[in-house]
Amino acid sequence: MRILLIEDEKYIASAVAERLKKDRCAVDLALDGDYGLDCALTGIYDVVILDVMLPKKDGFAVLKELRAGGVTTPVILLTAKSEVADRVRGLNLGADDYLVKPFHMDELLARVRALSRRPPEFHQGGALACGDIELDPRALTLRRGTSAAALTPKEAQILEVLVARRETAVSKDAIIEKVWGYDVDAEDNNVEKHVSSLRKKLARIGSETSIHTVRGAGYRLIAGARQCNSES
Ligand code: CA
Repeated sequence: MRILLIEDEKYIASAVAERLKKDRCAVDLALDGDYGLDCALTGIYDVVILDVMLPKKDGFAVLKELRAGGVTTPVILLTAKSEVADRVRGLNLGADDYLVKPFHMDELLARVRALSRRPPEFHQGGALACGDIELDPRALTLRRGTSAAALTPKEAQILEVLVARRETAVSKDAIIEKVWGYDVDAEDNNVEKHVSSLRKKLARIGSETSIHTVRGAGYRLIAGARQCNSES
């Protein structure tokens, strides 16, 4: 397994790197955000461990630019802040997991292993057509004819899950598991917030495709107008 560690605190960086190497990982270390982003953009890593407070470019900016660059490598954010707002911000920007400092090394290792085991479920093909909409998970766009809306990475992933299981109810737990992955206590209303935003965007592009709330069961995507198929 090849891991990129972006961390400016040298004692933490060397302790984490040592431990990962014992676990038979190849570890590259970046001591600032600029260099870390350059390394991460190569896309060659299995997991990126990213500190939030960094010189030159902070972890949020690195993450944002990494995802904007189309790199989907799983990212674990290391944060000294335990505020929910920071956690949510990181997850919204496309982090897969986070750890609050100080963390236990075994916990970090467990999360690295869990993320590297995750199959690449997202961003595999081109655009997905469903009813009257077309979702491009890589470009983070939602289209209906010539109308388009930009999506956040999480909105695109949630919509992708709903499109894959269209016309059937998908529970919030299943969405959290698919989109946020291993053991992240993403609150339910977090999913609600993204779904609410997706509904607004569907309405904005004039789509008849809608996300129905199914009482006690989650959400169901109902395709509007044209039938679902894999061709656009
Ligand atoms: Ca730091």
